[in-house]
Order: sequence, then structure tokens, then C-alpha cells
Amino acid sequence: MKSLYSRLVIACAILLSVLLTGLGIVLGQFFPLFSENSNLILQRQYWFFLILTLVIAFVLSLLIATRMMIQYARPIDEMTKITSRIAHGDYLARIQTSESEYDNDLAKGINKIASNLQEMSTMQIMEKERLKTLIESMGSGLLMFGRGGTVNLLNEVFKTTFGLSENEVVGKTFKDIGLPIAIENLIEDVFMTEQVRAEQVRIDISDHPSYMSVHGAPVIGRHGNWLGIVVVIHDITELIRLEEVRKDFVANVSHELRTPITSIKGFTETLLDGAMHEPAIMKEFLGIIQKESDRLHLLIDDLLELSGMEREGFSLMYSPVNVKDMIGDAMDVVSRSMERKKMNIVAEIPEGLIIDADADRLMQVMVNLLSNAINYSKEETTVTVAVTHDMNEAVITIRDQGIGIEQSELPRLFERFYRVDRARSRDSGGTGLGLAIVKHLVEIHGGCVEVDSTIGVGTTFCVHLPILHNK
Ligand code: ADP
Repeated sequence: MKSLYSRLVIACAILLSVLLTGLGIVLGQFFPLFSENSNLILQRQYWFFLILTLVIAFVLSLLIATRMMIQYARPIDEMTKITSRIAHGDYLARIQTSESEYDNDLAKGINKIASNLQEMSTMQIMEKERLKTLIESMGSGLLMFGRGGTVNLLNEVFKTTFGLSENEVVGKTFKDIGLPIAIENLIEDVFMTEQVRAEQVRIDISDHPSYMSVHGAPVIGRHGNWLGIVVVIHDITELIRLEEVRKDFVANVSHELRTPITSIKGFTETLLDGAMHEPAIMKEFLGIIQKESDRLHLLIDDLLELSGMEREGFSLMYSPVNVKDMIGDAMDVVSRSMERKKMNIVAEIPEGLIIDADADRLMQVMVNLLSNAINYSKEETTVTVAVTHDMNEAVITIRDQGIGIEQSELPRLFERFYRVDRARSRDSGGTGLGLAIVKHLVEIHGGCVEVDSTIGVGTTFCVHLPILHNK
């Protein structure tokens, strides 16, 4: 495309040529006057001066035209090009204002507009990025409907929660997305009432129930105009599960406390009602009351132990622990109950194996597992304690020949108050908290516990512990 500058120069040259031709024609009108009254020399001189004057005039006007072009047209041409670049989004384009030929005020003005636009576009990009990061990292599903009632924005969490792709959602109305009916109803309500709505809904996605907290609100613009609605969906399944666990725990604790207390209260009342005058009955009842209070004591101790371990700031007292000595001490603790049931213990523990651990807590783990192995085994059976290790971890295995546990019961075994056989556990003086404490203690050591069992054959617990403590 030809520039404005070259077009103007061509136009000026044509204009000048036309002017000069016109001037020549006009002057030619006077020529007969000269031919009649003057001699030939004079005529030639006139012609010579006339042509010379015309040539000088032509050159001068050409110079003036060029100068004017340079001074006014070229900068305007340049500025036009720059503004066109700016209009097409190139906000970095600038006019070189140091060149004197440019009208500095206009050039400066254009440059200022360009720099303002550049600043605004940078800010807009930043805001967009910020909003995108916020939307994607908010941890909740987000869905936004525009004024037309169709989706114009959604985030990754929403897509993964409902297993939908962007194409299946963007541009669709809430009825077409295929959302659970409870969420559809809430969205419809917000559309109809233009009021904020919040609800907890249960959704059955892929066979297991999820709980969502759904929050819908109208989007109102700066001037009070309605722009659409925004829906935020937060998965609260874990919260609901924890709430259930808490409720179960409170119910279990209440039940476990009530049983011995009812028993103590009942036997005490019977004694006071006259049974205390019969020495044999009194002895029997007092024995029961003592057993029940011991159980109550044990239960409260275990509860305090668990809550202490879960409290922030609980830490282990790490020191080098000789595994063989520690297991030996634990075996001493359970030796009396072992003798009572005429049971046998076999230990296969390497000498000199040292691990970084809290000796007392580890002994607590061993005593709990050994007590269970004794409690849930018949008389004259054998319990085997074996230890293997490599560079990184030691594995303590406690195997009994007891009653065993159904495979279906194994996943819940480490839950608080979970018992396979409630009556049997209670008879053996168990609180139902032993394995929960074991699991907790092993895990805070950085290890894990595994269990395997066969009904009528026996049960094996494996405790994996790191050899070195990772500080
Ligand atoms: P409890 O105080 O009832 O023994 P635990 O938490 O120690 O509580 O154990 C939970 C349940 O796991 C027990 O009630 C028992 O039914 C089962 N259990 C634990 N250890 C064994 C084992 N070695 N053999 C068979 N069942 C066991």
C-alpha cells in the first residue's frame, strides 16, 4: 500500500505541473505584444528570464512542498501506522518523540494511550490469571451461569466430581447437564427467587454415597443488574464420616461406661437390700463389683491414653532400643496369664538388633498383642514371636494358634471398640481399644501393622518398624 507521504508528494508535483502549465498558457497570451513592439534580442531575453524565473519558481515550490511534506505529512503517516498497530493490540508500539519533525503533543498523547492500554491489558491478564488460579485451587466445584441461563464457567473440581467434560457443560442450561436432581432444584430455586440458597445434599455417584454442601447465589453487577448465578459445590463426605465416627465413639463410650456402672449399681443395691448379711453372697458380689470397677478403670485409662496420643504436641521419647530385650520384658509382663492357660511361647529374635524407638511405647504394643494372643487362644497352645529385619525395617511377628478371626472382620479390627465377639472380649477384661492404641503407636513410630487370620487356625500380627527414626 502506498504511504500517505508518497501520495502527497505525487499530488503536489501534479498540482505544481498544472499550475506551471497554466502559468505558461497565461503568459503566452502576452507574447503577441512583445512580437509587435520589440526586437528579436529583447524578445529572446524576455523568454530567457521568463523561463529562468519559472524554473526557479518550480524548484523553489518543489523544495517548499517537499519540506512541508517532510514536516507534516510523514509524521502523520508514521503516527497513522503506529495507531493502527495499537488498534490491532500491539500496545508496545511507540512513536519516537525525540524526532523534531513530529508534533510532540500528539505523539506523546498517542504514546500515553498506548502505555495506558498496555498497563490495562497487563493488569487484565494478571487479574484473569489470579481468578483462574483462585477458581482452580478453591477445592470446591464451581459452576457459573450467565444471563442467558447457560453455563459459561466451571472448574476442574466440578468436572472430576461429576465426571463431566467441558464440552458437556459449557453452553448448556442446568437441566441439560445431568446434575443430581437435588442440585438441579437448588439452581432452579436461585434462578426463580434470585436469593442465596445453601443445602446439604446426598448424592449417589458410582454406588457409594457422597455428601455435598451446595451453595447457590445470584451474581449482581456493579449497577445492580443481574448477571447470572454462581454455584459452589463442596464435598463434605469426609466431614460427615468423621461426624459419624464421633457419634459412634460417644455412643460406644457411653455404652461401655454404662455396662460396668449398671452392674456395680445393681450389685451394691442388692447388697444394701439385705444380701450383705449373707457372707458368701457378699463375697461373690464384692468380687463382681471389684472386677467391674477394674474394667471401668482400665477403660478410662485406655481412653485417656488414646486422647493423649492424639493431642497435638504428643511426642515419642526416642532412644536406641534392643528389640530382643524389649520383647523379653513384654513377655515377662504376660507370663502369669500365659502360665494360667498353660501356654507356651517361642521366641525367634536375633541378638543385637537395635532400632530407634520409644521403648515404653513399643513395650505397650507388644504387651497388647501378646495379651490378645493369650486371651483369644485355647489352653496349651503356642504363641510364636519372630523378628526379621533388613537395612531399613524390623518386622515383629506375633503368631497364635487361637480362635482366629473371619476375613470379613479384619478391615475393621483396628477401629475403636470394634470387637469380633463382644461377650468374649468383655469376659477377658478387654476394653475394645487395645488394637486402636497399637495401630496409633506403631504409626507414630513411622511403621504399620498388618493382620492375617484363619478361623480355628490362628491369627498373625506383623508390626513393621523403621530401624532409624526420620527426624
Ligand atoms: P479387646 O480389648 O476387646 O481385646 P482389641 O482392640 O485388643 O480389644 O481387639 C479387638 C478385637 O479383635 C477383640 O475383641 C477380638 O475380637 C479381636 N482380636 C484381637 N486379637 C485377636 C487374636 N489374637 N485372635 C483372635 N481375635 C483377636
